Amino acid sequence: MAKVNPAFIEKIKTSDDFDATACMNCGVCSAVCPMEIPLLPRKLFRYVLLGLEDKVLENKQVIYQCLLCKMCEANCTADVHIAENVRFLRNYVSKEIYKL
Ligand code: SF4
Ligand code: SF4
Repeated sequence: MAKVNPAFIEKIKTSDDFDATACMNCGVCSAVCPMEIPLLPRKLFRYVLLGLEDKVLENKQVIYQCLLCKMCEANCTADVHIAENVRFLRNYVSKEIYKL
């Protein structure tokens, strides 16, 4: 069963670099992604907003697969700053997990 990490949610809430609350989970971003990463951005962002740190870390490889091409962002009707969010997650994994 997935564990909720309140510290993770707090970190997200206080971050200026992560914002996915406007996401309507429409799936357009996934449909236009050249990497065909079904998890990014919407599902992974949902895990982040719910504080499901384990689920995020379980899927950390996709955070690094993203090309930051912003094709998803250009087609997002909710104006979610997807590439910025991916950058935030990369920093988080690098610092918190790999201690880089
Ligand atoms: S296109 Fe935007 S609103 Fe739709 S799922 Fe992706 S991030 Fe969310
Ligand atoms: S920025 Fe990343 S998630 Fe968005 S379309 Fe490009 S590769 Fe896919």
